[in-house]
Amino acid sequence: MKLKLLALSLLAGAATTVSAQQPDLVKYVNTLQGTNSKHELTRGNTYPTTALPFAMHTWTPQTGRNGDGWKYQYFKDKIRGFQQAHQCSSWTRDYAVFSFMPMVDRLVVNENDREAKFSHANEIAKPNYYKVQFDNQITTEISPTERGAQLRFTYPKGKKSFLVLDGYTGMSGVKIYPKENKITGYVHNGEGFKEGFRNFFVICFDQPFQAYGTWENKSNTVKADSIAAEGPGKGAYLQFKAGATVQVKVASSYISMDQAALNLKTELGADKSLEQTKAKAGVIWNKSLGKVLVEGGTAADKATFYSCFFRASLFSRKFYELDAKGRPYYFSPYDGKIHNGYMYTDTGFWDTFRAQFPLNTIMHPEMHGRYMQALLDANKQCGWLPSWSFPSEAGSMIGNHAISLLADAWAKGIRTFDPKEALSAYLHEATNKGPWGPANGRDGWKEYFQLGYVPYPKYREATAKTLEYAYDDYCGWQLATTTGNAYYAGIFGRQMYNYKNVYDASTRFMRGRGTDGAWAPKFDPAEWGGPFTEGNAWHWQWSVFQDIEGLTKLMGGEQNFTAKLDSVFSEPNRVNVGSYGGMIHEMTEMVMADMGQYAHGNQPIQHMVYLYNYAGQPWKSQYYARKVMSKLYDATENGYPGDEDQGQTSSWYVLSALGFYSVTPGTDQYALGSPVFKKTTISLENGKKFIIEAPENTAENVYIKSATLNGKTYTANFIRHSDLVNGGVLKLDMSPKPEMKRGLSAADKPFSLSQAK
Ligand code: CA
Repeated sequence: MKLKLLALSLLAGAATTVSAQQPDLVKYVNTLQGTNSKHELTRGNTYPTTALPFAMHTWTPQTGRNGDGWKYQYFKDKIRGFQQAHQCSSWTRDYAVFSFMPMVDRLVVNENDREAKFSHANEIAKPNYYKVQFDNQITTEISPTERGAQLRFTYPKGKKSFLVLDGYTGMSGVKIYPKENKITGYVHNGEGFKEGFRNFFVICFDQPFQAYGTWENKSNTVKADSIAAEGPGKGAYLQFKAGATVQVKVASSYISMDQAALNLKTELGADKSLEQTKAKAGVIWNKSLGKVLVEGGTAADKATFYSCFFRASLFSRKFYELDAKGRPYYFSPYDGKIHNGYMYTDTGFWDTFRAQFPLNTIMHPEMHGRYMQALLDANKQCGWLPSWSFPSEAGSMIGNHAISLLADAWAKGIRTFDPKEALSAYLHEATNKGPWGPANGRDGWKEYFQLGYVPYPKYREATAKTLEYAYDDYCGWQLATTTGNAYYAGIFGRQMYNYKNVYDASTRFMRGRGTDGAWAPKFDPAEWGGPFTEGNAWHWQWSVFQDIEGLTKLMGGEQNFTAKLDSVFSEPNRVNVGSYGGMIHEMTEMVMADMGQYAHGNQPIQHMVYLYNYAGQPWKSQYYARKVMSKLYDATENGYPGDEDQGQTSSWYVLSALGFYSVTPGTDQYALGSPVFKKTTISLENGKKFIIEAPENTAENVYIKSATLNGKTYTANFIRHSDLVNGGVLKLDMSPKPEMKRGLSAADKPFSLSQAK
């Protein structure tokens, strides 16, 4: 019922300017999807992002305290600011933030005291437009550009009208120009930044100031008539004529104040009103979302699809700016210097190598090509390949997945970087330990090299590390092999089967293994942590992306393999909290999903439903892909089964809804599932179209009875990237009954290293 109501309200919601050729898809997007989250249980861990695709800056209402990772929580009923935001996860703090807050009657700077009540009934949350009316009748609207926004504050008639500019946490500076209706300034908040990092901003108002001053947000002291302030938490306030409507243009830069002014001129100079900024942003989003046009399916299905596609199109963010001649350059978060070219930041590769980047190779290959060169530039500036940049390197989680992005890009025809430079950077990564976090360089690299696995308990999460290192080594081997770099192929080729060294045949599970070769005692496959990362043995069993056939042989053949896949769903959803010592939200989410040990709310198992394709039961991949999509996703504030994670969990949905998934980034294949819609048209950057037709598709007809690709019978359980980008038609004959004869031959199975031999 809730879904139906939501779909109706979405359709009735903010109208977007639509060109004749471009259908209005923005209307389907609900940016509140996943915002009903808290520490113990996340339904997405998102905030109502108002931004352009992959934009440098985004905007959001703020319900949490300054510095709190929980920016906007759906269940809260008060807003304390509208902020320029960058954060990609509530588990990391934001950086370079400042905010505005309007109020009536009297000036209140204190962030706790100035909160204003609102209700969701008076809120519109779209990618190109956010609007909320407080109970006190003040209306705030926001429409974004890539490096700025236009806001509009409409105060109720006759009421004294104030606006506070808050410098958030850390150092800031402001300067007020009363005659020019302008404020300039900078903020420097966030962690791990190079000296010299500043977010410079320029703010232009279309109304004169009746009064103004500066303030400081720790003691909340106000200095009336002051036109400049610098120091921790400094901000400004303004008073407009009573009942004013105030339009505000704001843009910022990491390079300089002059560049901030140029960004404002370039992106907002021509816009006379917020409506123009909103309309332009709507056109940009409709073009971006229009890369996939879905037909058939319910309004709720479309809302889920385009809301997820929106979320899949936010990270990594463009960290570069354009000079007066339109040339890209940037402040490097890695060495604190200015460089020419492109730079992208704000993602954790552990999450996003799986689906978000593979999705970009289809939808945004030009950007992806720039990104791959930027990765190697970042390596030079940082001394290490990025793995977790927010925006500088933090080395969080595990694995060395930059090589997955690079190998995947190469496999898909992207030739914007030197593969030898990539391999050299990866070898350095794989044979050293960096200064930050386990995923900066390689934790346990010596033992991994000598023993063929990372020993446990000497290293925490050791078996998860072994599995991901072996996959990364496959990516290194793959890139080296296809580019004629035999030296590197020799090194990585020796290690890419190392997953076998942590498989215990007696329990048929991956397990922790000591330096002496002995298995870690007291094994319970439902036990989280220990040798695993944010999961248990049921979840990590399948992290052999590069060689599912090899894993199948290890597990005693296809029958045992598929029986174990079945068991993931049929096991009780029991949790042994293990080394976590208590329930973490991922455990709670697995229990709530009620699909046995299947934990889609976190990354390790997200590819698992597609593995039946490799072992003679492709219809089960079709069944479970549809089941996960329909059961665990919707477009509401509760719309994700766990953390969204910088586009990864959304990209899983987008790819799955198209009918395939990137089980093995680094190959040119996607394993088949079951599409959601009767017809899906992908418009590629090269001008070609790839169409997935499934005219009999319904919620019941989830099975592929037969298929043709460009008119020829197609029996494979995968689709090649080259088939997509060359354009064509994949036609699927859908049925309510599983087709147990299709896709069974060896050649029909997706790529596995052991199969390739
Ligand atoms: Ca996660």
